[in-house]
Amino acid sequence: MTRYVALYLRISEDKTGRVEGVKAQERWGRAYAGRTWPGLPVKVFADNDISASNGDRRPAYEALREALAGGEVAHVWAVEQSRLERREVEWFRLAAELDAAGITELHTNRDGIVRVRDEIAGIKAVLNAAEVRKLRERVTDKMAEIAAEGRPAGGSVFGYRAGVDDGGGKTLVIVEEQAAIIREVADWLLAGWSPARITETLRDCGVVGVVRRRVRDAAGEVVKDAEGRAVRRDSRLTTSAVKSMVTNPVVAGLRVHKGHTVPAVWSAILDRDVWDAVRDRLTAVRTVEGRDGRTREVSPIQRHTGRRYLLTGGTARCGICDMPLVCVERQIRSHRKPYYQCHPNRGGKGCVGIVGDPLEAHVVGVLLDELDKPEFLAALAADDHTQRRDEITTALRGIDAQRNDLAAMWSAQEMTADEWRTARHGLTQSEQRLRAELAEVPPPMSRVDPRQIRAAWPAMNLDERRETISTYVERVTVKRAKPGTAGFDEGRVDIEWQTR
Ligand SMILES: [Zn+2]
Repeated sequence: MTRYVALYLRISEDKTGRVEGVKAQERWGRAYAGRTWPGLPVKVFADNDISASNGDRRPAYEALREALAGGEVAHVWAVEQSRLERREVEWFRLAAELDAAGITELHTNRDGIVRVRDEIAGIKAVLNAAEVRKLRERVTDKMAEIAAEGRPAGGSVFGYRAGVDDGGGKTLVIVEEQAAIIREVADWLLAGWSPARITETLRDCGVVGVVRRRVRDAAGEVVKDAEGRAVRRDSRLTTSAVKSMVTNPVVAGLRVHKGHTVPAVWSAILDRDVWDAVRDRLTAVRTVEGRDGRTREVSPIQRHTGRRYLLTGGTARCGICDMPLVCVERQIRSHRKPYYQCHPNRGGKGCVGIVGDPLEAHVVGVLLDELDKPEFLAALAADDHTQRRDEITTALRGIDAQRNDLAAMWSAQEMTADEWRTARHGLTQSEQRLRAELAEVPPPMSRVDPRQIRAAWPAMNLDERRETISTYVERVTVKRAKPGTAGFDEGRVDIEWQTR
């Protein structure tokens, strides 16, 4: 495609009421183009309608922006800069789009050559570069986004197969048994299960990866069948495949095109709220501005306690002085082993000590046995924190919505850049406060079906195991050793349950 010189013409009225028609402007523009870029084709974009600068509809202007985004334009000319765009913010946006299209200069008859980058340097004083980039991406992708119409991209997606709708258009059709797995994965994640653990559970149920791999022989050659086609085998389900099952916009009935999201033509498997919440848990790593003004990535759920043992942090306590036991590595015979003790560092008096591994194994064993009993399950304390968690999550989502509203207001010139920044700063502070609070709310372990814990235990990580224990165990009291006993004595250990 040969790129062309774009002449942007707009009828306008000058201060004296004199109308400058587009025909005259076209003559000036063609003359300029002929002198400056001899031989290059010229295309005219003319808005032949006098209208105010606020909210005016300018089809040719929009067409020019689309042509810029499409890489069709080599040079741009207008009789003067304000003819192209007189609104300051919009001009900055257009300057960014020109720059993105590789057009570094705007040629005019009255303002000379306007160097676009200089203008962008100006906007950088107001906004940071990332904002400019986002703005630019948002705008230039708009047309492509509409073109996408929410039709599916190629490729296989777990939960769907390719299909055709009533109108003959491409769509996706839900595969019910896969959709059921997706919904289950979402439930488990929201109940606090780790992706690794969910993957393990699904593998045990015979779920395999979406991709079917080619089989290779011992020499590394692809094995082929009688018709010469590669023989394929199931692939092992991976944790990242499980994550993408539930975070993929496709399952929420969304079509994403170059970072923009449009409603898709197919049906969703997960409700938008559920999908949002799952992504909050798994992928919503966002850049936020810290108190120090620096930006950093945050993931909403950062629950690593940094603890190394199951019963520390107040669960295991001294049966004599009631202080929390600490656990340290201690030389026992020829091995270093975890050892829980009533330690002066935590206010204890050294009253009791007990070898860690058998203590932990005992508590876990009793807990798993109890979880098998209907009467124990019936007496479990309810999760008192669900409501608070939901409130915080809703508030966080509200902050995101407000951010978008602010950006829209700013872009519509309903507020100044200073006001915008101040408002955003306020939102950032609220967000930090909410995220900190969310991290303090106990995780929703009791929403996990307790009957599944035994099967899931081997695949749980330490934090998850600690969470499980603190959900069901109120405290573990360790009494003094009876003189003369050797080895682990479970009679020294009392377990109190979190029952209502
Ligand atoms: Zn003690």
